[in-house]
Order: sequence, then C-alpha cells, then structure tokens
Amino acid sequence: MTDPAPADLLIRAAAVHTLVPGEPPRRAVAVTGGRIAALAAAPDGLDALIGPATEVVDAPDSTMLPAFDDTHTHLVLAGHSVHGVPVHRARDLPGFLGLIRERAARTPAGQWIHTTVNWQEVLLTEQRMPTTGELDDATAEHPVLVRRGAYNMVLNSAALRLAGITAATEAPPGGVIERDGHGRLTGRLVNRAVELVERVLPRPTLAERIEGLRAASAGYAATGIGTVRDCLVPVEDLDVLDAARAGGALAVRVRALVSGFAARTPEQVDALLDRMDDWRADGRDDDRLRLWGVKFGIDGGFEAGAVEEPYQGQPCYHGRLLWEPAELLAAVDRVVERGWRVGVHAWGDRGLRVLLDVFEQVLERRPGLPPGTLVVEHGGLARPEQRARAVALGIPVTVQHPLLHDGALTQQRAWGEERTAALFPLREWLDEGALITGGSDFPVGPYGAMVSVWGMTTRGTTAGVVGPEHAIGRAEAIALHTVNAARLTGESAVRGSLRPGSFADLTVWPRDPLDCPVDALRELLPTRTVVDGRTTHLS
Ligand SMILES: [Zn+2]
Repeated sequence: MTDPAPADLLIRAAAVHTLVPGEPPRRAVAVTGGRIAALAAAPDGLDALIGPATEVVDAPDSTMLPAFDDTHTHLVLAGHSVHGVPVHRARDLPGFLGLIRERAARTPAGQWIHTTVNWQEVLLTEQRMPTTGELDDATAEHPVLVRRGAYNMVLNSAALRLAGITAATEAPPGGVIERDGHGRLTGRLVNRAVELVERVLPRPTLAERIEGLRAASAGYAATGIGTVRDCLVPVEDLDVLDAARAGGALAVRVRALVSGFAARTPEQVDALLDRMDDWRADGRDDDRLRLWGVKFGIDGGFEAGAVEEPYQGQPCYHGRLLWEPAELLAAVDRVVERGWRVGVHAWGDRGLRVLLDVFEQVLERRPGLPPGTLVVEHGGLARPEQRARAVALGIPVTVQHPLLHDGALTQQRAWGEERTAALFPLREWLDEGALITGGSDFPVGPYGAMVSVWGMTTRGTTAGVVGPEHAIGRAEAIALHTVNAARLTGESAVRGSLRPGSFADLTVWPRDPLDCPVDALRELLPTRTVVDGRTTHLS
C-alpha cells in the first residue's frame, strides 16, 4: 500500500460539524487538492498526512462548519457599489452628508461621486433621503449620485445637469422623476428613470470592475460565505465575472442567474438563451463560476408586491403584476425547453399565487422536468394554500430574513403589521416539507452567514421581533445555507456538508454557532473561510 498524499491544509478544532446526518462532531480535517481528504474523531487522528508543505492550523477552541451559501444575493451590484461613499454606516443625515463632503475633499473637481447602495432611509434618524439642496451644500464641484438599491437615486444639481434632466424632462415609461408641489425637481429618480443617469455615468474599466468584484467577494468571504447565487447578472457581465475568475479575484464561487427582465418577447428570450448556450458551449462553466439559469420577476417588492387585499390606506391599490401570466408562461416554458433553470421573484400572496399557476402549467406540459428547475425567489407572503401547492409541485423557495430585517418598517407602512409579520413563514415551510434555502438579497438586507442565522431564529428586525411563531432552530437555519443550498444548486455530492471527497469549502468560528448565546450570533464572524482549499478570509 502506498502512503496517502500529504495534506495541503490540516485543521484541528474543538468540533467539526460535518452536517452529515447522524454523524458526531469530528476534531480534525485534512484538505488536499481543493478537496476534503479525510476527517478524524481525534485531534491528532490525521497527523500521518502532515508533510513538509502542509499548513497545520491548531484551533482547539474553534468550531468548524461548511462554508455558507448566500442563495439569493447580488454580487455584481455589490462590486459596483463597494468603492462608493460608505453611507450605509451613517446614522443620520448630517453623518451621511459629512461622508460625501469628506470624499469630495479628496476627489478632483468634476469627477462623479457615488454612494454604496446597501442602506435604507427609514433607518436614518430623519427617515428620509437627502435633498438636492443638501447634496449641493456638500459639494457643488462634483456630480453626486446617491443610490439606494438598484432603482432609487437622488442627484445633486451638477449631476442633474450632466444627465440632462430639467423640470420639463419626461420619465421613461415605468419611471418617476419626482417634483415638489411647485413642479420643481426634487432630485429623486425612481425605477426606470434611473436609466437617464446610467447612460451618462462614466463606464468603469474592466480592471475597475475586477477590483470591485475582488473587494465585494472578499466581503462575503469575511462573513463565512463561500458561494453566492447572484440573482441578477446582466448577460454581458458574464465576461466580467469570467475575467475576475481568471484573475483570481473571486473569493467566492458564483452561481449566476442571468437577468431576463428585458426579455419580454419569445425572440428576446431566445436571443438571451443563445448567449447562454454559447457560454456553456465555450466550456467556460466550471465549479467556481457556473451559469445557473434565468431570473424573472412577477411582481414588485415592499411597495409594489402584488397582494390579494389592498395596501394599507390605499383601498384601490393591490401592488403590481409585471407580467401577463400567459406571457410569463411562454417565457418560462421556452427557458426550460432549452435546458435552463428559472428563478422567479414573487413577493406578495397574489404574485405567488399567479406564479404557482404558471409553474403548474409548465410542469403539466413537461412532466419529466428535473426537480429544482423552477424556483420561487422570496415567496415572501406565502399563504397555507400556496405553501401546499409549492410543496406538492416540488418547487424550492429561496428565503431571505435579512430582507425582512431591513425592510420591516417600510413593509409595515405599506401592508400593516399583520402581513409584515406573516412574511417568510419558515417554521411552516419546513414542517410542511418544503425545500427552502437561505440568502440575504443584499443590497437590501445585509449579507452574512450568522446574521442570517440570528434573524431566522429570533425574527429580529428593525421594527422589533415580528412573527416569532415563524422562527426556526439554529441547526435548521444553518442547513438552509449549507445542505439545502447545495440541493438547490444540484451539488449535494460535492458541497453543503463535509465528507471525504467533497469540496474543501470550510469555515472556522471562534465560538460554536450551535450553542453560543443567541445574540452573539448577530456579530459572529469566522476566523477563517476556505473555498476550494484556498483561504479566502483570515482574521
Ligand atoms: Zn434579489
């Protein structure tokens, strides 16, 4: 018998939770060639695998878990935003504007200044966005773009001028250029009106994009995340992700959902799928960067999710359906016919009902469709009858407590407290046998392995604890980001749990997330994250 190859990395810990059913915690893990070579019950059980080049990590107080997946997030958007003015750290408007003033002081006049996008104005003391006048006071020398998420902006006067927006400008269909009671611009642009600005923004170079992805993916790794499912990748950005991978800039594995938001006709859907087929045919798909499928959306979010009962104080408003069901059916059917998967955003109970109608018809037409081909993204307000249908149809649902955490106040204003508390009924989903997986929806909710576990187990939000009866246990919450996540992406054989032969995607924690005080989870960060056997984060 020949000796086994020496390990590249050997970690000894207090407990290694493999998440293999029925398996007791281990004490040592050995990694070779990006794979787990062996696990042992004793701390010194793998010492025979130590060679001259083996990195040996002694962490006798630490706990190990698989690296987490964020199964619904927006890495590409994070890459754009990561070098922006960090206004997400501001607690009030003076602090917010001070950060912009500070950046202006070290930015050449005339150059654009933009903010990070992961913040909520309801969390500022003043509970509102800054005005154009306030931004002009911060700097008149630079065009300033304050952006929250993808579809909300406020500009200063210099930026409005560069975008060619005046009080007479008409917004594109579905967009809003806000005006005050006197018809004057407020500087606020919503939904498709943001396109007026996007077309005049200086385009970042490829090198800048790669650096953005490097920093953004390192941010995920620092919270214990090893794989992100990016739910809105513009098809042309696949090349940027590819270049980032080639340059070693991706600290996380990426599973990409290409944006189908602009593909409304059969021809447009086919054109998108042609580009995806070309990508796959080029052999560019690998374990680090994999094309998962197409993303559509059936309704809006906090303020436009389609609900059965009207919005609070707006008896005629039930949110918005973004598709005619027959057209969405045709688009989804085309995507799956060509062998791709589909994730569809559904937020309100009406949105989810109509989406399940569509999915049901697709499954009737195509009974042999592999499980997991059709996925509900969010399924926020999932009523018992809809949960029963999703479970019966075998449709996985990605859930994001961080989205509820940050959005609870906004949602209460639109829907009232009862419906807000009913969002993400995780206890029920699990008890009823659904496959649900955990994510963040960053930049709306904060990403992070344990902040999500904390939220799912406590139901804590910015509006206090909401719907505590929907909370789940810690082991369950961890499974949503690991074992279940790997089932969603069809990678259970190599990811989600720690077994010999599986990918060496690991996290090392200074306390045991399964039994530290629950409130410690909120701030708990890993001391080390490993992806593919490579350390992507070390603190
Ligand atoms: Zn999303």
